[in-house]
Amino acid sequence: MPPPESPTATRPPAPTGEPLLVATGLRKTYRAGRGTGRSARVHAVDGVDLSIAAGETLGVVGESGCGKSTLARMLVGLERPDAGTVRYAGSDVATARGTRRRDLRRAVQMVFQDPLTSLNPRLPVLDLVAEPLDVHRLARGAAARRDRVAELLELVGLAPEMMHRFPHEFSGGQRQRIGIARALATEPRVVVCDEPVSALDVSVQAQVVNLLAELQRRLGLTLVFIAHDLGVVRHVSHRVAVMYLGRLAEIGPAAAVYQQPAHPYSRALLGSVPVRHPSQRGRQRVTLAGDPPSPVDPPAGCRFHTRCPIVHDLCRTGEPPLLAGPGGSIAACHFAAEAKPPVG
Ligand code: ADP
Ligand code: MG
Repeated sequence: MPPPESPTATRPPAPTGEPLLVATGLRKTYRAGRGTGRSARVHAVDGVDLSIAAGETLGVVGESGCGKSTLARMLVGLERPDAGTVRYAGSDVATARGTRRRDLRRAVQMVFQDPLTSLNPRLPVLDLVAEPLDVHRLARGAAARRDRVAELLELVGLAPEMMHRFPHEFSGGQRQRIGIARALATEPRVVVCDEPVSALDVSVQAQVVNLLAELQRRLGLTLVFIAHDLGVVRHVSHRVAVMYLGRLAEIGPAAAVYQQPAHPYSRALLGSVPVRHPSQRGRQRVTLAGDPPSPVDPPAGCRFHTRCPIVHDLCRTGEPPLLAGPGGSIAACHFAAEAKPPVG
């Protein structure tokens, strides 16, 4: 376990490596459910650009339904974007074929919220963790296979003997460790974790978060860590992206997003952080009222304007570009540059 970090600490920027995973203009729509009209589309991800450096941890946060899982599936190549590309080390993840595709699958792995639910409950952990080894032919013979699974279980803090047990015999935290072991079996360079601790008791969440942070450091992994809460990714993220209704609201170094958030939505997610209205004196408490608008028919102008405490006429019609905030992040807010550091 890494040493405990102070509650306000954020990680320093990762050594700026080459961009390893680059998403450009990503879009994905789905057919909307019944009662929404025949041609209605859900704009799940609607124009996202991301560049993730080798060896860095990017936290991705936002409310349920904002497109985090859709983004994650496109990043690992499980889902094909309607527009835009994801490139891993220069190769298009969606269109790669043959050996190149196999190499990509091996290099970019995903950890799910409850990674064992989709797997055969009758198989012992040995076979569950070894499945990626079998698929990619990474272990020759039963002994080598077993040794590698033992090694992987130790890597995630589980006893190797546990390989003979079945999924139902494990606690939530242990099941997630098994999911992580499975994801690491192919020796990936990138691991996209989609809400890996959201289903866990709060007391267990920190252990799994610390494990991921430790593995990131030890193995030099590039990590995308998705959560709906900014608090969860705080200590493990070098950079943080905040999503709202299929788009990036803000992205930047963790210290900037937590200490000088430039988007009113980030401030709202961070809690009741006082902000100053650009045209008004005095402070205001930011709280998020109600649910986000439907991604079937997102608001015109700034997507956040219907819930924004500092909304202006401009916000109802003009779509904000990503603008530099005072702390070093960029935010899709017309008033990003005017954001004040939190007071008190
Ligand atoms: P998050 O992970 O942030 O909760 P998702 O990416 O799961 O968000 O979903 C984004 C939006 O796309 C939601 O409105 C969701 O209902 C919709 N959506 C996601 N997957 C599908 C799908 N396979 N078919 C139809 N709609 C989907
Ligand atoms: Mg999700």
